[in-house]
Amino acid sequence: MEILYKSTRSDSTPVTASQAILKGLADDGGLFVPMEIPALDVSLKELSGMTYQEVAYEVMKLYLTDFTEEELKNCINKAYDEKFDTEVIAPLTEAGNAFYLELYHGATIAFKDMALSILPHLLTTSAKKNAVKNEIVILTATSGDTGKAALAGFADVEGTRIIVFYPKNGVSPIQEKQMVTQKGANTHVVGIHGNFDDAQTGVKKLFGDTALAKEMDEKGFQFSSANSINIGRLVPQIVYYVYSYAMLLGQGKVEEGEKINVVVPTGNFGNILAAYYAKNMGLPIDKLICASNDNKVLFDFFQSGTYDRNREFILTSSPSMDILISSNLERLIYKIAGNDSAKNAAFMASLSKDGVYDITDEMKGKLQDFRGGYASEQECFDMIKGLYDEFGYVIDTHTAVAAAAYAKYRAESKDTTKTVIASTASPYKFTRSVMKAIDEKYDSMGDFELVDELSRISNTDVPKAIEEIRTAPVLHNTVCEKEEMKDVVKKFLGM
Ligand SMILES: *Cc1c(COP(=O)(O)O)cnc(C)c1O
Repeated sequence: MEILYKSTRSDSTPVTASQAILKGLADDGGLFVPMEIPALDVSLKELSGMTYQEVAYEVMKLYLTDFTEEELKNCINKAYDEKFDTEVIAPLTEAGNAFYLELYHGATIAFKDMALSILPHLLTTSAKKNAVKNEIVILTATSGDTGKAALAGFADVEGTRIIVFYPKNGVSPIQEKQMVTQKGANTHVVGIHGNFDDAQTGVKKLFGDTALAKEMDEKGFQFSSANSINIGRLVPQIVYYVYSYAMLLGQGKVEEGEKINVVVPTGNFGNILAAYYAKNMGLPIDKLICASNDNKVLFDFFQSGTYDRNREFILTSSPSMDILISSNLERLIYKIAGNDSAKNAAFMASLSKDGVYDITDEMKGKLQDFRGGYASEQECFDMIKGLYDEFGYVIDTHTAVAAAAYAKYRAESKDTTKTVIASTASPYKFTRSVMKAIDEKYDSMGDFELVDELSRISNTDVPKAIEEIRTAPVLHNTVCEKEEMKDVVKKFLGM
């Protein structure tokens, strides 16, 4: 069955999967959605005997229907290889009353690697299929994590170049070190004098610059985006939910068909949307618990049916979830609006004009699968300490939001359904917050001292991603004003 993709904001002509990956965003500003969510066509029992790569193929072939078997397997094998520090790619660890699905064993030790290690291959394959001759230039603004994961994914991928802009004084020292030490002849990293919004606005301006696009085309280049709304990032994220169930079944932890709950620490709503798609494909999932930090716009939405971004932006120790506009929620809104693009477009217009929209009671009725949860900073720290003290297991600050929100849900609902928690970052990426939660005394130690101490107390090896930046030479030192971004891009491309 061929799956085509259409925009959430209008009913213009549908496109193929490879075209949707190349375009990223629809011309009307909407997101691409599959016109139908395909059902799994192999049994859970069969899946339980498969490797990560095999499960990836069984899931992704249902969505990327214009890719040949060879093309898709090729992308999968190039993505999920020794870049990951474990052959199982996404291991499950049982601790307390939950299973932690560790999505941080890739090159940059955060879950963004799960999709960004395959996106470059999906993109270059899509370019070939659509006879795109130009070199693809990925342009990204980052507040820290996405930039490094995209750099690692695109480094030395033939037919691509990547340029990442980050706020010079707006990322953590570890994040900056990770980016400016990036290897790969096709990678460029630039600090800008300004904040993340300036970087983001500058990048959007370059994407919309038609004169620049024409000039680039003449020189054999075109822009593309590695942004989290690309369907080429969403589809690979469905895989690990299917895989986690298959592992539980294979290990005899669930009976075939037994429902599980899934808890996801959420920012842009991409990861949890992938779990929702997995459920709609027939994976036995009962509740999807959407966990927020103090920026709990989604918790309030699931309580009240009102999405309201007009509130104070709070900086937390789970920065990758400090978001007030969850872009991927639009795909859910479109679906519960009965796949009505006009209705969805009206909500999105209201969000962009007034920062708020209210869904109807009928739409609210279609959110039964979801529960909103949240956890304060203190609740997260207590969770990290509690898990460590009792089980010797250390989780990062984002995963702690999910674990703490789940503990509250379980206490209130008395629901004892077996539960998978998406563990989205290695504790080594947020060492200081994690170690401080375990014991205040650690705050006086230096960054790499803390890394060694974490290794000792958790009895885990320091990940390669952290080892590397201890000594890696700085390879990128361009810094520019935000008005100079266009010149910098042209210079990198030799134009
Ligand atoms: C990006 C990110 C999240 C949020 O994921 P979304 O798909 O944006 O909801 C959570 N945790 C970590 C560590 C992340 O990097």
